[in-house]
Amino acid sequence: MPSTAAQSRSAPDALANDLSRIHPANAAFLKAPKRLLIDGAWVEATSGKTFEVRDPSSDEVVAHVAAGDAADVDRAVAAARRAFEDSEWSRMKPTDRERLLHRLADLIEAHADELAELEAIDNGKSVLMARHVDIKHALEVWRYMAGWPTKLEGQTLPISGTLVPGQQYVAFSQREAVGVVGAIIAWNFPLLLATWKSAPALAAGCTVVLKPAEETPLTALRLGELIQEAGFPRGVFNIVTGMGPTAGAALAKHPDVDKITFTGSTEVGRLIVQAAAGNMKKVTVELGGKSPVLVLEDADLDAAIPGVAGAIFFNHGQVCSAGSRLYVAERHFERVLEGVTAQARGIKLGPGLDSSAQMGPLVSSVQRERVMRYVAQGLESGARAAAGGKALGSRGYYVEPTVFHGVKDDMSIVREEIFGPVVVVKPFTDLNEVARTANDSIYGLGASIWTRDVHKVFTLAPKLKAGSVWVNCHSILDATMPFGGYKQSGWGRELGKEAVYSYTESKSLCINYAG
Ligand code: ADP
Repeated sequence: MPSTAAQSRSAPDALANDLSRIHPANAAFLKAPKRLLIDGAWVEATSGKTFEVRDPSSDEVVAHVAAGDAADVDRAVAAARRAFEDSEWSRMKPTDRERLLHRLADLIEAHADELAELEAIDNGKSVLMARHVDIKHALEVWRYMAGWPTKLEGQTLPISGTLVPGQQYVAFSQREAVGVVGAIIAWNFPLLLATWKSAPALAAGCTVVLKPAEETPLTALRLGELIQEAGFPRGVFNIVTGMGPTAGAALAKHPDVDKITFTGSTEVGRLIVQAAAGNMKKVTVELGGKSPVLVLEDADLDAAIPGVAGAIFFNHGQVCSAGSRLYVAERHFERVLEGVTAQARGIKLGPGLDSSAQMGPLVSSVQRERVMRYVAQGLESGARAAAGGKALGSRGYYVEPTVFHGVKDDMSIVREEIFGPVVVVKPFTDLNEVARTANDSIYGLGASIWTRDVHKVFTLAPKLKAGSVWVNCHSILDATMPFGGYKQSGWGRELGKEAVYSYTESKSLCINYAG
């Protein structure tokens, strides 16, 4: 059993990014004014207001960004409407739309290193992680979605047409772009989430108004520049940076937006759904999670221990599908707890631009406070921290990777989404019992099973109420594989065919050809 006292960790020497050594293109980008992209032009917010963007490793302001609000959302939606209804874009052949999307993917690839660096400065994550996960996956999604315009097929329907005798019919269904899409995204994977929404929407022929998270607008703005460079017609892709309750809320309730797609907290997701009801927008929401990780008796522990540690500590636990509840077969409980504790203690904290750092600061001081509130509640309610439990760094927003045991099912650290590097570990004795415990949550985004027994996989996986069940891995995503939640984890799916279809309407065409 690991010591119940949190191990003390000395603060890393250099906790902050060295911004004097960044890529010259990023240095120039950070200095330049950050405006809204509306109708193909970079413009100030109507109010003239801006907001500050901070480097999470140092709390220093790295950019001032236009604070758009309802008036700017109106302008952007009007531009997107014009581009959707009557423009080069609306008349563009599917092959040409594909070519444009591939051209954009080529530009993202050419600028991948700079984008990764910008993401590390803006979000706090490791530049290596940003390059090999965020940007790499974003590129794969753009390429995958670029193939869809020529494949959005309908069907020929074998209708009988019995209602009006003596007539003869032929019928088809076809897919059409849903229209103007409002996309509101979170800050944990900024470019990736912008991609998850924009790539299928554009592939389907929609136009987009993107509202990035106020904590992390920078790579979305660079994406806007690359979209312009690729040659997308004006108004097809618009960006309104700004606050959630102003710019975000205006977009969610806008009467001329046909679909709203959102990634963020369940709390805000509920507001989005209510706002969308005004004009019955189509809605996709990808929300919170409290994903269970089940280590069974026959698991390969040498692989499972680093695997389940990665399930929670990847991206500092700021992952909606993070494996934040770890249930371990009783006979392996001590060994897995010790192993995960050792992994947590071994993680090197440091700023995103330090390529030797394995975990960066959390995204904001607000997020650090939120995570530390949960840690305090866990300790107060009697849980024991085998690792971590402290905030670090005088200026940056660092939190130690934290492993709780001795937990009870009604504790807030077991029930609520923390969105930080905090895991609860608990033993189980029986597969039916652990399936029930795993499902005892308002969320249902992901789950993982660690086992070598295929029979147990097929027994357990159907019982788990989650949009993704991973076996001997966790949070694996792919452009082809739908991702989304059961229960209060959301509506609809990101990625794969389901995502691109969600940006289309199905139209039935019925022709009477009786002579
Ligand atoms: P978090 O709590 O992790 O910051 P949120 O769900 O609050 O996540 O934010 C996700 C996105 O939703 C951000 O782009 C934010 O600006 C936006 N947002 C926040 N509040 C609202 C709101 N009332 N209406 C629309 N969007 C909002």
